[in-house]
Amino acid sequence: MAIDKQTLLSKYRAERDKRLRPDGNAQYIRLKDRFAHYAEDPYIPVKPRAPKTDHVTFAFVGGGFAGLVTGARVAEAGVEDVRIIEKGGDFGGTWYWNRYPGAQCDTASMVYMPLLEETGHRPSEKYAHAPEILAQCKRIGVQFGLYRNALFHTEVTDLSWDESVTAWRIKTNRGDNFTAQFLGVGTGPLHVPKLPGIPGIEEFEGHSFHTSRWDYAYTGGDPNGAPLDKLKDKRVAIIGTGATAVQCVPHLARAAQKLYVFQRTPSSVDVRANQPIDPDWFAEIAKPGWQQRWLENFTENQAGGGADEDLVQDGWTDLSRRIRARIATLPPEQRTPAAMWAAFEDSDFEKMEEIRARVDTVVRDTEAAQKLKAWYRQLCKRPCFHDEYLQAFNEPSTTLVDTDGKGVERITRKGIIANGVEYEVDCIIYASGFEVGTEFTGRAGFDLTGRDSLKLSEAWADGMRSMHGTHVHGFPNLFFVQPTQGANLISNVPHNLTEAAKTVAMIIGEAQKRGAREVEVSKAAQEAWVELLLTGPGRMIGSQDCTPGYYNNEGHDPGPAARYAIGYPQGASAYFRYLEGWRNSGQFEGLEFR
Ligand code: NDP
Repeated sequence: MAIDKQTLLSKYRAERDKRLRPDGNAQYIRLKDRFAHYAEDPYIPVKPRAPKTDHVTFAFVGGGFAGLVTGARVAEAGVEDVRIIEKGGDFGGTWYWNRYPGAQCDTASMVYMPLLEETGHRPSEKYAHAPEILAQCKRIGVQFGLYRNALFHTEVTDLSWDESVTAWRIKTNRGDNFTAQFLGVGTGPLHVPKLPGIPGIEEFEGHSFHTSRWDYAYTGGDPNGAPLDKLKDKRVAIIGTGATAVQCVPHLARAAQKLYVFQRTPSSVDVRANQPIDPDWFAEIAKPGWQQRWLENFTENQAGGGADEDLVQDGWTDLSRRIRARIATLPPEQRTPAAMWAAFEDSDFEKMEEIRARVDTVVRDTEAAQKLKAWYRQLCKRPCFHDEYLQAFNEPSTTLVDTDGKGVERITRKGIIANGVEYEVDCIIYASGFEVGTEFTGRAGFDLTGRDSLKLSEAWADGMRSMHGTHVHGFPNLFFVQPTQGANLISNVPHNLTEAAKTVAMIIGEAQKRGAREVEVSKAAQEAWVELLLTGPGRMIGSQDCTPGYYNNEGHDPGPAARYAIGYPQGASAYFRYLEGWRNSGQFEGLEFR
């Protein structure tokens, strides 16, 4: 069926406009003060311990994938005193906190789960569930000796370069005050939960919690998928329909006496097609170097020029293949940026029409089906993939309460008001996401003070400045482990982290070999890198045309600093090739070893 692009675009615009709010990010509530209990750890009690006042060679802030893979590579390179500082009660980061029923990775386990080959773990499913991913985090911790020195339930409060001892001084909320010669920071983009700023939220007298602090004591069940048996006589509301809600709604729908799903913007939900991984097949493919080959193949197919073979074959590589196929139909002389954008947009329209048509084939209530359709480009919001979410709206217990883009009006003592109707409930579950687009220092809970008392917040006041997203001038012996200003590959964040981890370990090894006490990117090299980044196509997500959300600063102009939230101009695959060459040359061009 031919797609009427203009009609679609006006529908997209109208749906976006309905959702624009003047308060943008300020609409959300921080989990501080009277909301602080929403952020407490429901899984592991905090144990008393003596503060640390010693010195380590390498410290890392964050015990999620970034800290684990970097810690592992640095330990493997011979550094025996690696200390990871983590606010959760164990390793895992996102996977420590997010234990809601149905939590599962959205990128194929074979490329998403780090260090599979090194740990000898075979993922049980194409898209592994959270407990298996958390177990992999712990396995990495054990295998690379990272538990020995780790500080859990510990939040960094201050990081300062101490020139007198050529080391970072680290202070925490547990009274620690120790030094580290080298420091890594990998706190992740989505680690601070937020609540919707709905009037009356503090008045509710029933039970409530955020999805990243799931209260199994209240719901029954467990993260392995045991039924939430304590909900059978409960009326439950879930606010939010993002990637988290998509995964936990089917479990709630099966368990609750009544489930109300409060929707402001529907997610796009494509086919998941999860399947178990066959041990015989895995034994066949798991030859030395297999995971690196799979990583490179996924990235090449998703964010590069495409490879002959597509090992992962999922929604991510499918979208990219369609775009490439369309571009390939253009004669070379017509491959202008505008024509390429049009090809991208056509593929997107086609894909989204398919996703919307899928809703009609699954959801029996035609009115609900209409409301579950997403009217925006697929990458305007996090694309979702699930085979039970839309089906949950066929359960007699489940009611979709669509708010036509306006959101929940009010929370009362007894429940929720939306569209002028009060829904009385026993429990409200907030699937309202995490802080994004707020100040790094606010989210992280600390600023960094580099050489000559330079604060990171000052150095980045006009936008991020780094080389490779890792090294920052004025902040010696410091490594950021994250995607921005590097590959910026969002479809598989761990690939960014594993490559950065190898680099950090090699640089520390090189500093030790050269007998250098300090490593720092030169100002000139940092400026040249940023200049190079700015020659690229700019930000691929976050368009102001998109429906509001955390991808586009809730539809508000993010200001000039956002133009630096970009990656290598030639794309992720090209970046990883470049980075490998850069570190393997042994020159580490742009870094000064002193
Ligand atoms: P999101 O920020 O994606 O979703 C928050 C939800 O809350 C949105 O549906 C939002 O609506 C809704 N909301 C906020 N305020 C109100 C209000 N006042 N009234 C009604 N609804 C409201 O959070 P998630 O936790 O779902 O996901 C965050 C990110 O975490 C994902 O985008 C993804 O990157 C990651 N994730 C990854 C997973 C994976 O890989 N397996 C699984 C889960 C999450 P609106 O859209 O209108 O703003």
